[in-house]
Amino acid sequence: MRTGILFLVSGPSGSGKTTLCERLQSENEAHYAISCTTRQPRDGETHGKDYFFLSQEEFLTKKENSEFIEHAEVHGNYYGTLSSEVTDTISEGKDVVMDIDVQGAYSIRNSANSMIINALVDIFVMPETKEELRTRLVGRSTDSEEIIKKRMLNAQREIDQHQKYTYLLLSKDKEHDYLNFKSVLLAERLKQSRNTNS
Ligand code: 5GP
Repeated sequence: MRTGILFLVSGPSGSGKTTLCERLQSENEAHYAISCTTRQPRDGETHGKDYFFLSQEEFLTKKENSEFIEHAEVHGNYYGTLSSEVTDTISEGKDVVMDIDVQGAYSIRNSANSMIINALVDIFVMPETKEELRTRLVGRSTDSEEIIKKRMLNAQREIDQHQKYTYLLLSKDKEHDYLNFKSVLLAERLKQSRNTNS
């Protein structure tokens, strides 16, 4: 039996990483870990599908109860990954994909849980150019100009951390990106260390 992979994806807002994670889940290649957030839902987003949308109080209660394997403040809101979204699935030998920011990635890399460390594969999705990123953020018409500005400022902070990731995906177009993204997961599944029967 193979051990499960924790496929951790980061990249600036608008880099397309959420689309990559959703497609992996829709093809039944991995379970997409749904995060908790205190930010307001965007048009079309659903509680329990895109995020668990929580009040600040609900989020802090979960934090107090140690329900998160990592959490961070991003763009002025809280985000966190529930342990229940990750650990059971990995221990069953299935793969989990998670879309989290560079602070969350830092916490996961420093986890005291050896199962998480052994399962971890991290990848950074790099936009072609900053202009392309801005065009994508404006194009999705979900955020105000002020929020877009904040996300563009944060993008540089995220990009500065890209060397901390094992894999770097230089974004081109949807098909190219998905092919490369999935290839990393497929190759990781073949590692001797993940296959106890080999
Ligand atoms: P958005 O508000 O655009 O959905 O996400 C904003 C940022 O929060 C993205 O960089 C995304 O990767 C990050 N994010 C989403 N969920 C989590 C989480 O559970 N933990 C952390 N640390 N970051 C998250």
